[in-house]
Amino acid sequence: MVSSAAGDAAAGSFELSCLTPPQAAIKNNVTKAMFELIFIIFTPPHIFWSLIITKTPKKKRGTEESQTFLRPPFSAIIVPNMKDYPELTEIFSDGGVIESGMANYELRREQQDMALRIEEALATNEHLIIEAGTGIGKSLAYLVPLIIYAKTKRKRAIVATYTKTLQEQLTKKDLPFLREVLPFKFNFALCLGSANYLCLRRLHKSRQLGLFKDEDDIREWDNIARWSRKTETGVKLDADFEIDQKIWMEVCRESDMCAGRKCPYGSACFYNRSKTERSNADILVSNHHLFFTDIASGNKILPPYGAALLDEAHNAEDVAAEFLGAEFSYGNIRYILTRLTGGRDFGMDPDSAEAILKSAARTEMHVKELFRAVLARFGREKTQTRVREKNLFKGTAGAAIEELSGLVRASASKMKDENGDVSDEGCELRAYAGRLSEAKNALELFLEQSEPDFVYWADIKPAGRRLRASLYSCPLDISRILRQTLYKNTDSVIMTSATMCVNDSFEYMKERLGMVNAGELRLGSPFDYKKQALLYVAGDLPSPAADFEEFERKALERTGSICAAAGGGTFVLFTSWKSLEKAHEYLKENVKGLNFLKQGQMKRWKLLETFKNKSSAVLLGTNSFWQGVDVPGEALRCVIIFKLPFAVPDTPLTEARIEKLKEEGKNAFAHYQIPQAAIMLKQGVGRLIRTKNDRGVIAVLDPRLILSSYGKIFLRSLPGCAISQDIEEISAFIPFAGGV
Ligand code: SF4
Repeated sequence: MVSSAAGDAAAGSFELSCLTPPQAAIKNNVTKAMFELIFIIFTPPHIFWSLIITKTPKKKRGTEESQTFLRPPFSAIIVPNMKDYPELTEIFSDGGVIESGMANYELRREQQDMALRIEEALATNEHLIIEAGTGIGKSLAYLVPLIIYAKTKRKRAIVATYTKTLQEQLTKKDLPFLREVLPFKFNFALCLGSANYLCLRRLHKSRQLGLFKDEDDIREWDNIARWSRKTETGVKLDADFEIDQKIWMEVCRESDMCAGRKCPYGSACFYNRSKTERSNADILVSNHHLFFTDIASGNKILPPYGAALLDEAHNAEDVAAEFLGAEFSYGNIRYILTRLTGGRDFGMDPDSAEAILKSAARTEMHVKELFRAVLARFGREKTQTRVREKNLFKGTAGAAIEELSGLVRASASKMKDENGDVSDEGCELRAYAGRLSEAKNALELFLEQSEPDFVYWADIKPAGRRLRASLYSCPLDISRILRQTLYKNTDSVIMTSATMCVNDSFEYMKERLGMVNAGELRLGSPFDYKKQALLYVAGDLPSPAADFEEFERKALERTGSICAAAGGGTFVLFTSWKSLEKAHEYLKENVKGLNFLKQGQMKRWKLLETFKNKSSAVLLGTNSFWQGVDVPGEALRCVIIFKLPFAVPDTPLTEARIEKLKEEGKNAFAHYQIPQAAIMLKQGVGRLIRTKNDRGVIAVLDPRLILSSYGKIFLRSLPGCAISQDIEEISAFIPFAGGV
């Protein structure tokens, strides 16, 4: 397909055929020509292009200004020919490559608009925030311009998703499809955390060292070894059998234990192969976790990229906060201590071995003392307790960990192989020493609270019959960190999701993500919500804010009536486990003929399969079911929102965020709690209509939606459909509701 000159210019084209006189002069200079050649060969492409192409000023599409300016002096450069890259309007048009390659493809103006706006942002190095309603086909709308960007600018682009489902859709469906239909070649690679890969060296070493004594464990090792000979990826999730996590931990890749170039399995190494694929890729696909872990590591994990697109970006703030913070837990320390003292012969000299054993025993004692003090103080209270006091817990756990780390590191450095390099066992010990240092730093940060913009809390969870505590330090304001890292170092960052706006505005998301100056685009859904959905509001129920018990009692009864009217095919979404458990008991007891499933009863995928296959099923879920769940068709015909999803203000992070806003003189309810709840409500409501043939009811049992002064903000954030307070209309609206 051939693009027009104007189109080339719009996409940032450049030509080198007409040389200016100074360039021609340089051409005759042999020394300079040689220098050019060396420069071209040895300069990484991204640096090379940034040196020869002056950044294009922000401009309107298709105008004279949109040409890219060249800097002299290089003459013999092979540049991408923009005529190889069709215009986006052609790709997404009637008879374009997408329509020709995809059965049942429907041309959607919103999809084309999104692709064009992203193309513009990429051409002008602009950060952009997009709300793209369900059903516009946003993954193709961003993948195509990102691929063209990667090919023409010779820089990688990365797409990061929150859910595995979307990651799989991109790598197993959308990108292979585009590779088939686009008239030029491109490469993509899935980026997974290194612990997802089998390490051949650890696999063989674990057997040699006799790490597995139990018969079942040995059988599992044999299965993994057999699989290692036929798998192409070495990725745990690709195995055709379920791998025991305990065994996997002994044989997976651990970045700090990798022998690197000295590894005898290096050429067959699955992770190395994936690294090569990544470095040859135009498009990288990762999840938010790996994306932010890479940022936290100073970009040491992923290959460099010029553009980043985060899909499902309404989750980005929380994931970033988690991965840019630190955790100190008993489990992590215990794991290392077990490794060091579990009877394995690392080949240390006897004096070092004895000193390490004694130091490990002291460390265990001090760490246990610390956690006993944490449990004594907070164990009977709520699961997460904010800690505001510096050095609240005294003791010498940190010093003991540091001493142990030093001993292990010193011992590791003495352990050499036949070539005089640090031996395999030495490498492993060095990794444990590094982890101990990190743990000590995390503990120190928590105790000393040395980061002023962080929030600190103790988290207590049951583990069997005991309680386990972890200590967290988390950045309060990720916007500043992202500005200093991601936005500063990336040409263009694009955040998108179906839920980025509140009350017709991007202000909340832009502020939370630090994208105040980013461009905006809002695209509605192509679905006809007026015909496809009905919003039922239980306006007669008491407000949960006034009398929660009374609200809960009546809301349970109403839930039963709605489930019966819909004849099943219903999701009931809660914000608390307590209410979910209560509802499950009540509904099983009082509503006959329906099948009530609850989150946690079986694996998530199995729960969803059971729900899809049983027309009479009702699924009760909390937070993770508000998003990333796709049940098209009649199987899901009603979504009940039990209560407006305000974040509980006594969780440390929410409490601290609210406090910070108050300190800044802002109304935290208006600036944080309402927008946050509106985004989550939109996500929950978004579960219902997944295709243009779906039809169903959204039932909100919280009367504040229509009775409170802020209710209109929620209503304005929802798709425009008819509102009713008459429960009779529910079964009338769902034609295939069986009713019980
Ligand atoms: S190179 Fe590293 S990850 Fe690969 S097999 Fe060797 S030790 Fe394992």
